[in-house]
Amino acid sequence: MADYDVDLFVIGAGSGGVRAARIAAGHGARVAIAEEYRIGGTCVIRGCVPKKLLVYASRFPDAFEDSRGFGWTIGGTPTFSWPELIAAKDMEIARLSAIYETNLVKAGVVVHRQRARLDGQNAVRLADGTRLSARVILIATGGGPNPGDFPGAELTISSNEAFDLPKLPSRIAIVGGGYIAIEFAGIFAGLGSAVTLIHRGDKLLRGFDDDLRDEVRMGLEKRGVAVLLEDEIERVEADADGSKLVRTKAGAQLVVDEVMLAIGRAPLTDDLGLDDTIVMRDHNGAVMVDTTSRTNVPSIYAIGDVTDRLNLTPVAIREGHAFADTVFGSKPTTVDHANVPTAVFSTPEIGTVGLTEAEARMTDRAIDIYKTRFRPMKATLSGRDDKVLMKLVVDAETDRMLGVHIVGEDAAEMVQIAAIAVKMGATKADFDATMALHPSSAEELVTLRTKWAG
Ligand code: NDP
Repeated sequence: MADYDVDLFVIGAGSGGVRAARIAAGHGARVAIAEEYRIGGTCVIRGCVPKKLLVYASRFPDAFEDSRGFGWTIGGTPTFSWPELIAAKDMEIARLSAIYETNLVKAGVVVHRQRARLDGQNAVRLADGTRLSARVILIATGGGPNPGDFPGAELTISSNEAFDLPKLPSRIAIVGGGYIAIEFAGIFAGLGSAVTLIHRGDKLLRGFDDDLRDEVRMGLEKRGVAVLLEDEIERVEADADGSKLVRTKAGAQLVVDEVMLAIGRAPLTDDLGLDDTIVMRDHNGAVMVDTTSRTNVPSIYAIGDVTDRLNLTPVAIREGHAFADTVFGSKPTTVDHANVPTAVFSTPEIGTVGLTEAEARMTDRAIDIYKTRFRPMKATLSGRDDKVLMKLVVDAETDRMLGVHIVGEDAAEMVQIAAIAVKMGATKADFDATMALHPSSAEELVTLRTKWAG
């Protein structure tokens, strides 16, 4: 057997790469990892974690207002400091990043804080010129934001920069109708910015259940977000005072402080040496892999967003773990990408798992829909005009629960638990047999008895 410097070299220390490195090291492999930016990757440094912290911050104004209905009087007007929030967020992600690095080192993984690229099928070349041979190489470089292709696109920011703006923009235009656009629209609107959301489609959040898509749009509009549908940016121009003039194709003109693009993310494969080693990629540039995350080159594997399968952190972590167990733990493991729960941390929030109504109908099976839209208990005293929407998609023949979709407070928390039942193959009768937990919003999931006729 050839003598290699390491058994495994991981390129990219995000959630997936770090998990793969640690588990492989635990199986006794000699492991090294390279990261050109900060340990922790998108999720920890400029994705899920800081985003959720900003979401929490954005919901306090509602809480202050709601408290009045419960007898509270808040003295004076609460004030908000964006720099203080960003500084606190930065401290937390620095703490998490350090934990990630410590855990790697504790596991015996050698960390290279620099860029690495493939140098043949069994070696990598580090930015400082060092060449290291490896029996197996794992590409876990993730994805990055798509740039705009209109005049003035260089004046725009992506979510990467949004996390570190020196001040809260008074006016912001956000482009896109996906996860990031919707979440940031809620964040900035909650913090007091005037937000205009520009989306090319006729509904937000393509791929989600239609009822959820409508509910979220209404919720955003209720919070003051101006939603421009079926429109796109034509050009952005800089004004002398630092503001930006946005002209849209439908003829709208907006003056804003920032324009943020959230128009999808693409696999990060530039200058990785993939072409020299003939690693196959799809039309979007994603590294193509089989069910064990192996590329067409037997010594090279890939996991996470760079493979563009299901671009979610927990999925990348599972893929990294399964890869390490399979290749270094003699425990062949594949990841089941079905019924993965997901949330959009917009306000109102979405939690969803399984098939949407439209997807279920496309399978040609008979389906039953159960649906409710109600005022949550808290709103009775707060007076807030909030609703919770819940929708169950059931296979009419087998009674199996195919999908659970929720919009409203704590939707993500509810759907994480419901996902266990869906994954286990629970039936509607199983939901019905479950005793309600009263008083809660979630109890509606087990008390829905009437099929939706609409
Ligand atoms: P999404 O794929 O969710 O959405 C991209 C949006 O941009 C869509 O509305 C799309 O419209 C629109 N779009 C695409 N290209 C253009 C264009 N050229 N001009 C105008 N609009 C365009 O991507 P995001 O960037 O929001 O997020 C990337 C990924 O990150 C997500 O897919 C998700 O997997 C992950 N993520 C997950 C989160 C979570 O779990 N809570 C949070 C944030 C991100 P159309 O629908 O018409 O194609």
